[in-house]
Amino acid sequence: MRRALALALLLAPGAAHAFVRTHTTSADTSACLWWGPRILSFQINPDGAVDQTPEQAVHQVELGFSAWVDTGCSDLGFNDLGTTTELQVGYPHVLLAQPMLSGVVSSPHVIVFRGKACADVVTAGDDCLDPANDDCDNKYGCWADQANRSGDALAYTLVTSEVLSGRILDADTAFDAADFEFRDLLTDVCVRQDLDHCADLANTMAHEAGHFIGLGHSDTQDATMYAMVLAPNETAKRDLSQDDIDGVCSVYPTGKPASRCTAPGTAQVSGIGNSCQSATGGSLAWLAVALLLRPRRVAGRDPRRVLL
Ligand SMILES: [Zn+2]
Repeated sequence: MRRALALALLLAPGAAHAFVRTHTTSADTSACLWWGPRILSFQINPDGAVDQTPEQAVHQVELGFSAWVDTGCSDLGFNDLGTTTELQVGYPHVLLAQPMLSGVVSSPHVIVFRGKACADVVTAGDDCLDPANDDCDNKYGCWADQANRSGDALAYTLVTSEVLSGRILDADTAFDAADFEFRDLLTDVCVRQDLDHCADLANTMAHEAGHFIGLGHSDTQDATMYAMVLAPNETAKRDLSQDDIDGVCSVYPTGKPASRCTAPGTAQVSGIGNSCQSATGGSLAWLAVALLLRPRRVAGRDPRRVLL
C-alpha cells in the first residue's frame, strides 16, 4: 500500500516533470500545440544581424535549433532551407482570412533580425502605423515596441495554430538586434552594448526553438525553456536539460505521431501527458501565440538576472 501511494505521488501532475506545452485557449477547450511533420523547415534572413556576419548569424541559429535533435528519444529534426530576404513574421493575413487555403499555401518559417527600431525608420504617415494594419515591423524589417512585443524583449516567436486541434501552421522568430547585441559568446565579446544588452545568439535561439516546436516556459532552472537568463554571457541554454529532453520526447516520440491533448478551460498541460487524448479535428478559428523573451531586472542579489 505504501509503495502504491509513493508511486501515485510521483505520477501526480507536475510532480515529476516541469516542462510545459503551449496551448490554445478558446471558450470551452484548450489544446496543446504540435507539428504534424517531424522534420521542420526554416529559413533565415540575416540582413538585420548587425553585430555578426550573415554566415555567423546563420551558424548560430542552426546551433540553436540543433540543440533539440539527437536526444535519443525523439526523431524531431530541422531542415535549413537557406537564407531569405523575407521580413514577415506571422501567418499571412490572407491565409488567416481563408483558412481553407492553409493546406495549399504554406507560409515559410523565418528567423529574422530586426536591426533597427521602427521609431527610427518608419516614415511618418505610413499606413503601416494605422492600428488596423500595425505591421511596420514586417514592412520595414524593424523592431516595434508594441503592446505584445515589449520594448525590453530580446526576441519573440510567433506560433500560429488551429485553435481546436492545436496543430501548428506556422512559427517565426524575430530578434531585437536594435537594442541587443547578439554574439557567439563562447568565442566573442560584445563591443556595442553593455552586459545587460549582450546575448549569446545560439543560447537565445535554442530557447526560441523550444517555443517554435510548441513548448512553453519550464520552472526548472537549468532548463533551456526556463524563462530567465541566470547569468551575464549565459550560454548554458545551448544544451538541453533532462527536462527539455523529456518535453521534446513527450511531444515528438520516435516513430510515433505527435502527442496531442485537450484540457478544459485555460489550464496548462504539462508533465507526462496522461491527460492527453485525440483532439477532435481542425477548426476554422485560429490563434496566434506570441511568446516573448523579456529581459527585466528583478530584485535580488544578482542585478543582472533578467526575465526572458
Ligand atoms: Zn520564452
